[in-house]
Parts: sequence; C-alpha cells; structure tokens
Amino acid sequence: MALATSHTTFGDLARDELAIEVTCPNCGHRRTIDGNAPGLRNRRIAGARFRCDQCGSVGLPSIGKQRRWTGRLAEHARKLR
Ligand SMILES: [Zn+2]
Repeated sequence: MALATSHTTFGDLARDELAIEVTCPNCGHRRTIDGNAPGLRNRRIAGARFRCDQCGSVGLPSIGKQRRWTGRLAEHARKLR
C-alpha cells in the first residue's frame, strides 16, 4: 500500500488502525511499529528510518492493517455490549 497523503504522522496511521511493518532486507527480520508509542505519535512518516533490531541495517517499511493488537479489539467489543 502506498503512503496516503492524509497520513502525516505515525499517530495518524494508528488512528486509522494502520500499522507499519518493517522488513530487513539484510536478515529478513520483521517488526511492527506502534504508532501510538510516545515519541512516535507526532513524528512524520516521511523520511523516517527504522533500524533492524538484529543486524542494524535500515529496514523497508510497509503499511498494513493492524492485526495483532488485541487491546483495541477488546475495547471495541466492550462498546458493543
Ligand atoms: Zn536485519
């Protein structure tokens, strides 16, 4: 998915339940960036770089739907009751 112009900061992504997954081109390690994290929320996506936890190479970010974060889902379920 391409970067949408309406998403300027990581917080904008998190609000739309999108997450950034970073794949390392060197070792293949993947991790998901939490856009709600303090310090990331107001950070611009453009120009951001993510270093691999394992080998220190610069990873390649891609944007997708949040899946693993059950906290939000649980919150949503509570509201439905
Ligand atoms: Zn790596």
